[in-house]
Amino acid sequence: MHPQLASDLARLSPLLELTRQRAAAFLDTLPDRPVVPPAPAPGPVPLPEHGAGLQAALEEFGARWEPALSAGAGPRYLGFVTGGATPAALAGDWLTAAADQNSNSSLDGAGQHLERETVDWLRELFGLSGRHRGTFVSGATMSNTVGLAIAREWLGERLGVSVAEDGAAALGRVRVLSGSAHSSVAKALSVLGLGRSALVAVPTLPGREAVDPAALAEALRAADGPCVVVANAGTVNTADFDDLRAIAALRERHDFWLHVDGAFGAFAALSPDHAHLVDGLDLADSVCIDLHKWLNVPYDSAVQFTRRQDLQSTVFRNAAAYLGPLGDDPDLVHLTPENSHRLRALAAWFTLRAYGRDGHREIVERCVAGAQALGRAIEDTEGLRLLAPVRLNVVCFGMDGDPSADRLARLAQELAGEVFFTPTVHAGVPALRAAFSNWRTTAEDVQRIVSALRGAARRY
Ligand SMILES: *Cc1c(COP(=O)(O)O)cnc(C)c1O
Repeated sequence: MHPQLASDLARLSPLLELTRQRAAAFLDTLPDRPVVPPAPAPGPVPLPEHGAGLQAALEEFGARWEPALSAGAGPRYLGFVTGGATPAALAGDWLTAAADQNSNSSLDGAGQHLERETVDWLRELFGLSGRHRGTFVSGATMSNTVGLAIAREWLGERLGVSVAEDGAAALGRVRVLSGSAHSSVAKALSVLGLGRSALVAVPTLPGREAVDPAALAEALRAADGPCVVVANAGTVNTADFDDLRAIAALRERHDFWLHVDGAFGAFAALSPDHAHLVDGLDLADSVCIDLHKWLNVPYDSAVQFTRRQDLQSTVFRNAAAYLGPLGDDPDLVHLTPENSHRLRALAAWFTLRAYGRDGHREIVERCVAGAQALGRAIEDTEGLRLLAPVRLNVVCFGMDGDPSADRLARLAQELAGEVFFTPTVHAGVPALRAAFSNWRTTAEDVQRIVSALRGAARRY
């Protein structure tokens, strides 16, 4: 064994203790370090020919890279939709790496059984019935991709061809109808060989990002043949929700696969006051839910549910002499794009075990309360303008006067040490958005955000 490896192995326990201390010290800075640091990233250094061991690596990381990392896991990072990591989720993630299981096959230990237990808990959390089966993937983009891959195979079934065998070209022109699809849907269609142009934008309700069900019915009539509908449960700009029940009812007259992108919006199911937003979720053929956002597990984690796991294994099955058979409950290696994968479910298992449904409901409700408070403060601030009602956890706002993208970007940049917003364009108007999805965010954080925003708005 290389002497440096041997010496690290001999000191493994104290070295992990040092690592723990560094992690804890970093976490202690989260409430107050610059949310997005102004310092540029350090320049590259050459590949080390001779290593100096873990302790030296820790020191160099702490000196060169750590100061340039954002407080993405902290309470005032409201950019994109970004969760943090609950204490239990973080512990679960550490133990995932420590155990380093390739939990994809029944030939190995119980890893995939732990994943199935976690999927069952998640299914219950989101109010899905036993007809849905689920798998862990690395994020909502991958969850949308897997859901749409199953949809693609379903289209083949409808048309009497096998996409898994003969390729997407066997389908001819495919239409994927959606009101305000997330950008990852177009990316998924590109990956799946259906093409970005397969995505057809269906008109939304007046002043909303939710699809107009009558317009969708019209588009389905015009499509004349089986298609795919991507319904949105929580759009990124304004957290708007399609009427899932009304959309599902269109299946009485039209032949389509219903995929629901509920990456963060599905968490409305946890709050009795907001669960109506996802009424009908169980009617979907496939569902995408991110976990590294509002479940507050570390990157990278999401879940994909479907009623047609048989089609899922048609797409993703992997035949080799040493792999387990498909059967009724296929090994995970036959269900997702990856072959090998980490015991990704463990972080979710830990946080659900540690805090339960009511702990996670409290996170969701506190985030919604934070968004509502920020929304009210913006309405009460001269110069700022709320661009959409706060339906859940996203606040979409702009400025009076000349709200140029440039002016908003300068405002956001000036604030980035204290609070991080991301720029967007809503209904043609440049805007900023604040998404509340971190378990650490408190009412005091919202106060800090409001004062910073009001101060900056006066100057811009
Ligand atoms: C974040 C998000 C995605 C993509 O999620 P990743 O985890 O970044 O891949 C897809 N859809 C919606 C609605 C999202 O909010």
